Amino acid sequence: MNDLFELQTVDLEIVALEEKKNDVPTELIEARQDRKALDDERAAREAERNELQGKVNEAEAELARLRERIKLASSSALQAGTAKEASQFQNQELQFSTRAQEIEEDILPLMEELEGVETKLAALDERLASVVPALEELEEAEQARLGDINGTQKELEAKRDSMAEGIDPTLLKQYDSVRKAKRGLGIVKVTAEKRCGACNVQLPLHVQQKLKRGGDLVRCPSCGRILATEG
Ligand SMILES: [Zn+2]
Repeated sequence: MNDLFELQTVDLEIVALEEKKNDVPTELIEARQDRKALDDERAAREAERNELQGKVNEAEAELARLRERIKLASSSALQAGTAKEASQFQNQELQFSTRAQEIEEDILPLMEELEGVETKLAALDERLASVVPALEELEEAEQARLGDINGTQKELEAKRDSMAEGIDPTLLKQYDSVRKAKRGLGIVKVTAEKRCGACNVQLPLHVQQKLKRGGDLVRCPSCGRILATEG
């Protein structure tokens, strides 16, 4: 029984290590959140920039087409056979020019908006450039921390395996199944008041007698843990 208690001590240490793995440093959690917020904002700004750039490109293409048509109308007016024809082409030229002017006026605020977004993107990149190396350093430290824990855990597991070899397989099997179900203690001592050391239930007389006789594997009738008497 004492061997099993010693093995349980190692098992509890392994459980504690597992829990330690989840203790991610607050500084790292915050740095990850900061980076994610910056990445998200950057992605949103980039989408905004691409949309604006698309609008500017579209307007510029339209403007180029209009300028071609203005040129064509202008030369057609010069080459027109009649005054009526010439004035028709001149009207066309005027129409296209008015439209081109409208588009130029539309492009201007778009360009300004685009510039504003570019400035914000550059500022975000600057902030990322200062946040990312610090985060990477923290991530590295976290990897080292987890590596240490895993190393210790492997050592403990090896120790546990060799300890298990010295324990009666039936007892060990019972212990393992109780631990799996109860997530913690598999074997406990009976208290001086004849209560289960884990769930604190008062042990019935027949259980107490069975313990006193020894030899048999006795389990708590309430929580199922293996019971051991003091000493
Ligand atoms: Zn119990």
